[in-house]
Amino acid sequence: MGYFDRPAQQGDGINITPFTALNPIPDFDIIIVGAGPAGCAAARTLAQGGWRVGLFDKTQFPREKTCGDALIPDAHTALEKLGLRERVEQISYPTTALRLISFNGSEVTVRGKTASTPRIRLDGLLLESAQEVGAIFYPSHDFQSAQDVDGSHYTVGFLKDKTTVTFTATWVLLATGANVAPVEQVGLLDRAEPSSFAVRQYVRNPRLGKDFKELVFILDHTVRGGYGWVFPGPDDVFNIGVGYFGSTHKHGSLRHDFDAFVQSQPLVKDLMSDGEVVSPLRGAPLRTGLSGARFADGGILATGECVGTTFPLTGEGIGKALETGVLAAEQLLAHAPQGRLAVAQAYTTSMMALKPKFEAYRKAELLLRWPWLTNLLVFKASKNEYVRERLEALFNERLDPSRLFRMRTWLKLFRLF
Ligand SMILES: Cc1cc2nc3c(=O)[nH]c(=O)nc-3n(C[C@H](O)[C@H](O)[C@H](O)COP(=O)(O)OP(=O)(O)OC[C@H]3O[C@@H](n4cnc5c(N)ncnc54)[C@H](O)[C@@H]3O)c2cc1C
Repeated sequence: MGYFDRPAQQGDGINITPFTALNPIPDFDIIIVGAGPAGCAAARTLAQGGWRVGLFDKTQFPREKTCGDALIPDAHTALEKLGLRERVEQISYPTTALRLISFNGSEVTVRGKTASTPRIRLDGLLLESAQEVGAIFYPSHDFQSAQDVDGSHYTVGFLKDKTTVTFTATWVLLATGANVAPVEQVGLLDRAEPSSFAVRQYVRNPRLGKDFKELVFILDHTVRGGYGWVFPGPDDVFNIGVGYFGSTHKHGSLRHDFDAFVQSQPLVKDLMSDGEVVSPLRGAPLRTGLSGARFADGGILATGECVGTTFPLTGEGIGKALETGVLAAEQLLAHAPQGRLAVAQAYTTSMMALKPKFEAYRKAELLLRWPWLTNLLVFKASKNEYVRERLEALFNERLDPSRLFRMRTWLKLFRLF
């Protein structure tokens, strides 16, 4: 039986014996807060490792998550590791490449394993995959607090139907996406302000939907300090949006910019001309750059977008949310017997190993503020096989992005030009 067909009782009716002196076993080995990609990936991995997992979310599932819905190569790699690649492919719209259109209309196409999966379906499948290996899901539980009890376990409080309910667990993992209130509550937050903001709308167009096989990123003067996208999806429905680098969204109106983008870009204008708008324009913040929060303190860990795992520049974050959720789970499975400090250190070290990649994307974000340079790069990449191949390797994570910012790389690129 599929997740969407299940009767509403899931996550209810679990009789948990209260934690007392007579029953000194916490309700769970771990409480995971947030059932997005990061939380579900961690829940599935830990439950498969034999842990008793309580997975909590403040919403009811299935739920919408405002997103571009694109899966880039790192998401496919993480799904493979989770044993879910084929299942996700069955609910996805396959695409074969990324097309980048620059400010002056020059464009380059970069091949790579990509797809588009509406988040309402993807997240439903991920949750189902965690539940089927034993994780217990609690919808409509809004995290409030985590209190350390004698250094041995935590009492975790949630608001459920305006009432506070508590559960106990040896470990706590926060995976609350761009909502960092829980991260702040446990003392892990360094910066409350999000890194950027994006809006998207769904538009059905059967005329263009049939043969559209690329994720299209568009740099356009109408989106000041940002980019636009057109991603085809299942059922001839396109996900169209605009996103901003850094805090540039504060200087304009997102709806105005979205409308101007639609009018300015021939591809989007054509799509909208006989397309049917099937959703409101929705926006959400992003936390990027692997920054803004610490990864662990005591027996509390944080993973996914709440610690900034979404890429600067592209705003892609599903892949790294899955990857870091698995990473947190793996460090817990490997080091929990050695105690809290060992887990916190191992997890922090493994997360910091990803930092150079995020730094490189952040620097690239700055480069895109110079349209002439972007035009030049895109034009040359479209003409020169070596440059295009480098971009392809970068996109498919076969190339360390920090190499792009070495002087030698730039000299080589410009010599080729
Ligand atoms: C407009 C837009 C477009 C995007 N496009 C793409 C794209 O095309 N491809 C891509 O890879 N990425 C994209 N991203 C980024 C992507 O959405 C995120 O990187 C990804 O969702 C992060 O996953 P996560 O599991 O960390 O968090 P989320 O997916 O946000 O999940 C967090 C979960 O935590 C729950 N939660 C929050 N607070 C609490 C609480 N107090 N108590 C209990 N539960 C709580 C939430 O309800 C939610 O279910 C986009 C983002 C935006 C805003």
